[in-house]
Amino acid sequence: MNDKKRKISIIGSTGSIGTQALEVIEKLQDKFEIIALAGGHNVELLKKQAEKYHPEFVSCSCNPELVSGSHNAKILNGLEGLEQICSNKENDIILVACSGKIGLRPTLTAIKNGIDIALANKETLVMAGDIIMNEAKKHSVKIIPVDSEHCAIHQCIKDINLVDKLIITASGGPFLNKTIEDIKNATVEQALAHPRWHMGKKITVDSATLMNKGLEIIEAHHLFGFNYDDIDVVIHPQSIVHSAIEYVDGSIIAQLGLPSMHIPIQYAITYPERFEGIKSKSFKFSEIARLDFAEPDYEKFPALKLAYSMGKIGGTATVCLNAANEEAVFAFLDGKIKLYNIYEITKKMCDEHKVIQNPTIDEIFEVDREIRLNTQKLISLKYLFET
Ligand code: MG
Repeated sequence: MNDKKRKISIIGSTGSIGTQALEVIEKLQDKFEIIALAGGHNVELLKKQAEKYHPEFVSCSCNPELVSGSHNAKILNGLEGLEQICSNKENDIILVACSGKIGLRPTLTAIKNGIDIALANKETLVMAGDIIMNEAKKHSVKIIPVDSEHCAIHQCIKDINLVDKLIITASGGPFLNKTIEDIKNATVEQALAHPRWHMGKKITVDSATLMNKGLEIIEAHHLFGFNYDDIDVVIHPQSIVHSAIEYVDGSIIAQLGLPSMHIPIQYAITYPERFEGIKSKSFKFSEIARLDFAEPDYEKFPALKLAYSMGKIGGTATVCLNAANEEAVFAFLDGKIKLYNIYEITKKMCDEHKVIQNPTIDEIFEVDREIRLNTQKLISLKYLFET
């Protein structure tokens, strides 16, 4: 990073990853200059961030007047605002930390402008992994994963051509040791009580059903170019081994650490350099005492199997998986359906979906829109009055 400050923008600065990224940047003040911050509906926090970090631009998804305050940032708005941020070549790197499909088009814009990406938004790769990775290659853009498992793999890989297998760890979520009956009757509260990680609501529910792991194998397939049969998932409740790789000679390299998103965020935005930054305490093997590993239970967590099969089909199959699952998760969070219905609904939508291979970005968005509408319809017709 030399003496020159790295110029960074954050899409999704008010979310869980965004706020932690700002904590990292605050610790490494002399290394970064913030160009732009983009937030969603948490206007008050966005305004505070603008006042504290002095970005050149802030972008919101609300009425821009609500963000004006005692800062000098130019206020942008909506998808257009995100596009403006991502086409600003002043940026050395953009952290895409928003949730959902909103991140897709701006990420593509940034890549086409040759700006490196620290990627925390899974949907971008799940929906359009082929397009994103092709464009990144074409424009020599680095995509550094923030997702802790992928960040771990990124740290382990020295020569990707000599790697046989990726091993992605999963904490197993709050229902790891519960019965299928418990899972079927789980409340929103129980699903949101993740034992290891504090994250947004949507991803926490996905962790409870293991769909999050399913989305992560799709993410890994695109990021590292591995076949699905060479991407394993192993349950590891302590969340100390963040993931591993197996080399052709049988050597396993894993990345370990206490569960903290600060570390992968910092790795991604400072890559290829490393700094002391926000590390809170030293890791002691003796304090961990034991690490457990187990095969995932596909009967209890069928979402993971569904993700493997949709990933193998490719094309818009993963767009359908993602859209149907997300709509079902929202319905669950709204108290409209049960936890187990999320899988049933997603599976039904996937079974009925006519896959388009090699879709364009517009086709991807069209499929996404259609699947969401049909999922909502299915929920209101079939499920809403049963629960
Ligand atoms: Mg993860």
